[in-house]
Amino acid sequence: MSKEIQQILANLPSVDILLKQIDSSYPHGKAKEAVQQVLATIRKEVVAGSRQSVIDQPAILALIHKELAEKQFSLRRVINGTGTVVHTNLGRSSLSTQTQEQVLKTSFHYSNLEFDLASGKRGSRYSHLVSIVKKLTGAEDVLVVNNNAAAVLLVLSTLVQEKEVLVSRGELVEIGGAFRIPDVITSSGGKIVEVGTTNKTHLMDYKEALTEETGAILKVHTSNYRIIGFTETPELGDLAELAHANKLPLINDLGSGLLLDMRPFGLPYEPTVKEVLEQGCDIITFSGDKLLGGPQAGIIVGKREYIEKMKKNQLLRALRIDKMTLSALEATLALYLDEKEAIKNVPTLQMISLSEADCLNKATELAELLQPIAGLNVTIEKDNSKIGGGSYPEHLLPTYAISLSSDQVTADVLQEKLRLSATPIITRIKNDCNYLDLRTIALEEFPLIQASLQDIF
Ligand SMILES: *Cc1c(COP(=O)(O)O)cnc(C)c1O
Repeated sequence: MSKEIQQILANLPSVDILLKQIDSSYPHGKAKEAVQQVLATIRKEVVAGSRQSVIDQPAILALIHKELAEKQFSLRRVINGTGTVVHTNLGRSSLSTQTQEQVLKTSFHYSNLEFDLASGKRGSRYSHLVSIVKKLTGAEDVLVVNNNAAAVLLVLSTLVQEKEVLVSRGELVEIGGAFRIPDVITSSGGKIVEVGTTNKTHLMDYKEALTEETGAILKVHTSNYRIIGFTETPELGDLAELAHANKLPLINDLGSGLLLDMRPFGLPYEPTVKEVLEQGCDIITFSGDKLLGGPQAGIIVGKREYIEKMKKNQLLRALRIDKMTLSALEATLALYLDEKEAIKNVPTLQMISLSEADCLNKATELAELLQPIAGLNVTIEKDNSKIGGGSYPEHLLPTYAISLSSDQVTADVLQEKLRLSATPIITRIKNDCNYLDLRTIALEEFPLIQASLQDIF
């Protein structure tokens, strides 16, 4: 080894000196690992004579920070350029600032999770949502669990047990991720009684299927599955009347569960949770993180006599919701007390409510930031966004996207480079270009996109 090389190696800063200058937001262990790795690479390159660039301290620190950015936690924030608002693979809902603040306030300290402040006695974690859910839906009582799949399981295993459940053949569906209604009924201990046909089920079909063994009537929202054309199902009110005349509960798995009318945003009519309760359903279940725009949770609302029974089910303990989720759900629901506040602040609603013109304005702004990047072609394109999460499957929202392409890289390579950015950017490829739909990209994410593309080119 030449004297010169020995000198360069001896002059490299020590691990300790470098560690003191690393951004303190990185965990110590991860920072140390990155420092050691970068120093080892530099030593190897110096010895091999392949290191061209200067190796002063700022250059080494920059390399370490780059390494750290690339090797952060496994679960990370990403930028959703796909235009699918409720994107299950990307975590479904992004949460509001108000939710973030409330979770910070309650979850990093002790809280009255199961403590009644008025009496000083033991309380219930489920009590925190009762008054707000009553205001929003008119329900007598509420119970929340880990997700809607858990909610359906708890409801059926409490109310049906060994008995029969009447379900229309048109509603025995599988919902993303192999959640199959027939399997859930069976695993809850119930027996499925299929009524009607795939496209048509009449009130008479339910009536004829009733026996001594019937435990409940179940309605299931078919979510991302639709039968179009020659179809029929009985009115909910009539089905409720039939159930009640036979002292049975009418259970409705609504899937997404709407708290407000989406027609002002150009979407077709779907009844809200409140309206479905008013039509006579006894128990309704829905997700916290689909159109509601809150954390992952399964919300059960309805008659107190049934919910009381569920509270006594041993299974509830295994499905129970954690304090951070509960706090995030309460904060999200609180925004719904004022519809305008909800549309402005719940990201899911805010994105759905963006007009075509809003999307064009955002696209123009982002395009202006990216156009100066040499080697990158940027154009603005009319496109369509999807709602996702099994909601409004055949409905598209008109939007604007920016289309990225380059003579230097193929669309696939550019897509991968964007995906592997410090803040991963998820795009859709269309016409051999990478599309970024502005409906699902926040203004605050523009600088991150600009920085990633500057880095790539
Ligand atoms: C999405 C969905 C479920 C499952 O809900 P998760 O919150 O994902 O567990 C169950 N039933 C219906 C009708 C759905 O749309």
